[in-house]
Amino acid sequence: PFEVLIIGGGPAGAAAAIYTARKGIRVGVAAERFGGQVLDTMGIENFISVSHTEGPKLVAQLEQHVKDYDVDVMNLQRAEKLIPAQREGGLHEVVLANGASLKAKAIILSTGARWRQMNVPGENEYKNKGVAYCPHCDGPLFKGKRVAVIGGGNSGVEAAIDLAGIVAHVTLIEYDSQLRADAVLQRKLASLPNVKILTSAMTTKVNGDGEKVSGLSYKDRNSGVEHDIALEGIFVQIGLVPNTEWLKDAVALTTRGEIEIDARGETSQPGIFAAGDCTTVPYKQIVIAMGAGSTAALSAFDYMIRLPEE
Ligand code: FAD
Repeated sequence: PFEVLIIGGGPAGAAAAIYTARKGIRVGVAAERFGGQVLDTMGIENFISVSHTEGPKLVAQLEQHVKDYDVDVMNLQRAEKLIPAQREGGLHEVVLANGASLKAKAIILSTGARWRQMNVPGENEYKNKGVAYCPHCDGPLFKGKRVAVIGGGNSGVEAAIDLAGIVAHVTLIEYDSQLRADAVLQRKLASLPNVKILTSAMTTKVNGDGEKVSGLSYKDRNSGVEHDIALEGIFVQIGLVPNTEWLKDAVALTTRGEIEIDARGETSQPGIFAAGDCTTVPYKQIVIAMGAGSTAALSAFDYMIRLPEE
């Protein structure tokens, strides 16, 4: 068995692996896809101390840094079940999709999250070519341009307010007949001169010139009429879904599926820690996930050194 087993190989899992290995602890990482969301990212300009990098390049560096240590990396392995230890200090068990089972005294969960997609024609084709999911990451790329924000919940309205300060014009598109964001956010949004709000509007297509986004089409759900809007960017804000479906019976999750953690990265189960986008941590970013992974690793170490000798 491992002393510490990390599930997930994104920035949170990689940071946790390095911090754990540096304590001289036997550590393994099982990841469905080492690199996580960073693999799907093009330009990264907010990884502090690095002015500009690209997702695949950062993943290669993460992998190299992990390989500097004695870490057992099991890539292309999906975890399907977590069975917490029966008694404190006992072994937790993780069952993989291939049927194998891994055991460890402490577990760090860092399975990340995925942005809910619109699933309309053009969305995949123009991802990173005008279709974006993270206003903190990609907002500045659209300085002075026209963008749409899809989704009128808190994250959509926050994104629209944020972007309105950077871009030339924002169109907020909500499927329902009204926005669902907090009233204070809606008031702020309504006060902005360069924002237009469309409700009862269903986005039907992302349009492009073959290279990048040139606009979108939506259907007015009241009249049934289709409209086209010309713009350069589309921010999809219809939900960030944590990859925690497999953990329902193992640790406490919020109603949105986020793993509940405290300031030390501890979950509801002793010896099971979590970090990054799969948790209740506020704000989902690479530097934040790395910090959280480090926190979880140090907490796991603290836990281990307090266990009674077998
Ligand atoms: P993830 O990166 O999601 O990694 C999760 C890991 O867990 C992966 O290895 C995955 O394969 C694995 N996994 C999931 N389920 C299982 C399972 N059941 N069993 C085993 N393994 C599993 N942030 C920034 O700071 N700057 C940016 O510019 C930026 N741009 C972005 C652009 C895009 C297109 C996207 C999608 C995100 C962007 N982000 C950016 C956000 C950033 O990528 C995430 O906040 C960060 O990757 C979260 O790290 P994580 O380790 O928590 O999770």
